[in-house]
Amino acid sequence: MHFNRYIAHWAKHRPDAVALRCEGRSLNWKEIDLYSARVAACLLEQGVIPGDRVGILLENSLDWCLAFIGAFRAGAIAVPFNRMFGAFELEQIAGDADCMLAISCPAEIGKLGIDHPAEDRQAIHVYDMRADGQSPLPWSDILATERPFRDHRRSDDDGIAICYTSGTTGVPKGILLTHRSVDTMVQSLILTFGWTIGAERFVILAPLAFTGTCICVLCPLLATGGIGFIEKGVDPARALDLIVRERITYFPGVPALFERIASAPGFAEADISSIRTGNAGGAPVPRALLEKYLAKGVTIRQQYGTSEASGAITNPDFDLAVQCPESAGHPLPTFDLEIRDADGCVVAANEPGEIWIRGPQMMQGYWRKPEANAEAFDAEGWYRTGDLGRYDPDLGLFVLDRKKNMLISGGVNVYPAEVERAMARIEGVEEAVVFGMPSEKWGDEVVAIVHGPTLASGAALIPQVRELVGAYKTPRRILLSPDPLPRTASAKIRRQGLQELFLSLPDEEAVAG
Ligand code: ATP
Repeated sequence: MHFNRYIAHWAKHRPDAVALRCEGRSLNWKEIDLYSARVAACLLEQGVIPGDRVGILLENSLDWCLAFIGAFRAGAIAVPFNRMFGAFELEQIAGDADCMLAISCPAEIGKLGIDHPAEDRQAIHVYDMRADGQSPLPWSDILATERPFRDHRRSDDDGIAICYTSGTTGVPKGILLTHRSVDTMVQSLILTFGWTIGAERFVILAPLAFTGTCICVLCPLLATGGIGFIEKGVDPARALDLIVRERITYFPGVPALFERIASAPGFAEADISSIRTGNAGGAPVPRALLEKYLAKGVTIRQQYGTSEASGAITNPDFDLAVQCPESAGHPLPTFDLEIRDADGCVVAANEPGEIWIRGPQMMQGYWRKPEANAEAFDAEGWYRTGDLGRYDPDLGLFVLDRKKNMLISGGVNVYPAEVERAMARIEGVEEAVVFGMPSEKWGDEVVAIVHGPTLASGAALIPQVRELVGAYKTPRRILLSPDPLPRTASAKIRRQGLQELFLSLPDEEAVAG
């Protein structure tokens, strides 16, 4: 279904119910309908035609949501810009998306190469990218001005957003998601989590510009008619207080976020049992973390997903999440999933291989990248995720690592993610990254960089790692980094440049002798 229909539905059936709240301000469904229509009418007046791109470069706020909704109501495709990206990446993305307009403020718009010397650096404006941002329109005027407007509703296959990958493995690519793909994801989550229409209480902590936030939390909220509490950033103590005070029912995040909340003061006494769905994506859920939350009546379910699939692909049910937190569960009803070998043949149950998926949640494709699409999809519409996993018919999917990260050392496969997870359990290791250095003897020589200010030696960790993962997977050299490891804007370890970093770090053996 087209998301315009959801806005009209809730404005009619729950006009006075609060839909979004942020820092003491709130909007009910009637106001969301009214203000987003004014935004949409203004965009149309600026010449937007269906399919044009409208960039959003703002911090988390109610206005961010009105910009997003206004864009799709005008038939435009929103391009959420990640504020944590540098000017170089943002200009590259803005150029690739070919945005006609951008909704931003003087403090941010410089990153898109536009100079706006206004006194109020936070005042939101609509900038015309075709005219180098000249004569920006003040947001306050747009929201205050009544304009004739009729919802654009061409097809459910219209684009709703182009979301850019974080660049963990290369140059950011635009992922074109449609109303149909995102709505299919929402319907699938309703079935998976058993959400109650009109009653879910969502929390938004991560930047709205992340696919996992605007597509996987804001869009479900718009579709199910619940209420969303938007935070400007992640403050674990505030977040914990919010969960308790507002009786949050849906809490999504990466495992590290659940960990940070569990370390917030007052967690032991806090009543967080309102959370019916604790959904952790991006990495396996450590058993100790699962148990901390179970003791408080909350089950954390490990999700496997990608932006290309509009979010979630697999999820375990409650029993499986408790029985086997290492598993990411079974495919959502909207997905076919197969594990295939390098020749594209399906492997036997439990054998490792690449994860292939197919279903109506898939992106329409990478934006203006025909070669990348030809590489990613086969003729039958199967998408190669680039992730390695094994599928147990009873216990579900075990994600091993990204295919690009897999090392072949001495002829055997090593999955760095598995070794990194083991190393994270060693006392003093705050961060660990495992990768390969080219070696004539090994092909890939398995090495690691570790950050942990209390550690005196990297080499001293080797016997402990060997005990956990066995000899052939154990890094042959481990170097200590005095600094935290380099991260992408979405806080994943940046794997590009690790070999150079390794070569720049002091080598204990060389120092010793
Ligand atoms: P890119 O590296 O292409 O820039 P990204 O990091 O932006 O992509 P996302 O869509 O944010 O991509 O993340 C999806 C990736 O996260 C998956 O392809 C997979 O590698 C990893 N991932 C997701 N869920 C899990 C999980 N449960 N366990 C392990 N890895 C996971």
